[in-house]
Amino acid sequence: MPNKEKWPWAWPVLIAGPCSAESRNQVMETAKAIKALNIPRLKIFRAGIWKPRTRPNTFEGIGVEGLSWLSEVKSETGLLVATEVANSKHVEQALKYGIDILWIGARTTSGPFAVQEIADALSGTNIPVLVKNPVGPDLATWIGAIERLTHVGLTQVAAIHRGFTHLGGITYRNDPVWKMAIDLKSKMPDLPIICDPSHIAGKRNLIAQVCQKALDIDLDGLMIETHLDPDHALSDSEQQITPHTLKDLINNLSFKKELGGDAHFSAELDQLRAQIDRLDRELIECLSMRQKIVEKIGQQKKLKNITALQKSRMMELMKERIDLAKKLGLSEEYIEDIFQSIHAESVRLQTEIMKK
Ligand code: PEP
Ligand code: MN
Repeated sequence: MPNKEKWPWAWPVLIAGPCSAESRNQVMETAKAIKALNIPRLKIFRAGIWKPRTRPNTFEGIGVEGLSWLSEVKSETGLLVATEVANSKHVEQALKYGIDILWIGARTTSGPFAVQEIADALSGTNIPVLVKNPVGPDLATWIGAIERLTHVGLTQVAAIHRGFTHLGGITYRNDPVWKMAIDLKSKMPDLPIICDPSHIAGKRNLIAQVCQKALDIDLDGLMIETHLDPDHALSDSEQQITPHTLKDLINNLSFKKELGGDAHFSAELDQLRAQIDRLDRELIECLSMRQKIVEKIGQQKKLKNITALQKSRMMELMKERIDLAKKLGLSEEYIEDIFQSIHAESVRLQTEIMKK
């Protein structure tokens, strides 16, 4: 079982570095700039060497060459270095170059064969491995990947929460579904969970709020994509920030030392608010479906030359709705107000149809 006490640093820990290693100069200069920030919690430098890109013909990483740059970062700055592995060959090469920490990307976590292959390649080592959540909001697959690693004897295994693919309509690139991280925490209380606000946010101006949220629900660290020249980055350019911005961002975060009542309260509140948001959306969708039916009725009434308002129907409708509402513990006045307003809108709409 992963245990927070077994790690060589205090939590929450900070990880920074570019999405991808692009050139020796970019890697070395970014690492030096990050080191120069002199932030005690910032102990780990990240850079992707093999990049799992969604579409072909985009930059797919610099490959093995980049591993020697990471070794150099380690000896020059004293920062620990981390990179992503997606198969046993990557593991073998990363170990050969003395990489300190490995992470498994979201796309790889989604595939049990690949995770097992990585776990088998790591068997007999005790390198820390960070497991990103799978692309879809599937807690069992995330836990399964973590277990594949602990089952080969790794004791330093942590999770990275980087958000989930969604169908659109939200501000973020990946949906944080905070509840999923909270559920993982309750199921595996000793497992450190690091948040990757860069891949959740997708846009640099949204990163700070995601970081704060992660700390508020007591996650154990942040991995923030940092690049000397984000606008010209070869991958994820919109979500990377400069080392200078990173310093400001970290200085403005409030770190809680322990799981206080507040953090728990904030997580609970967030879950409840998410339920309210979903119900409100459903209410609006229902009202819109209702409106469409009201329109159809209006057209029929027009054909048959019937008035928009039928008092008896209105009385009947109201009585039936109020009876049901009372049974469900809602007050008569409350439901009457709502249905007066819904009915008035229906009459208005049908009157308009009649006039056409
Ligand atoms: C990354 O960290 O650059 C990366 C590819 O992340 P993810 O697997 O979360 O998409
Ligand atoms: Mn990235």
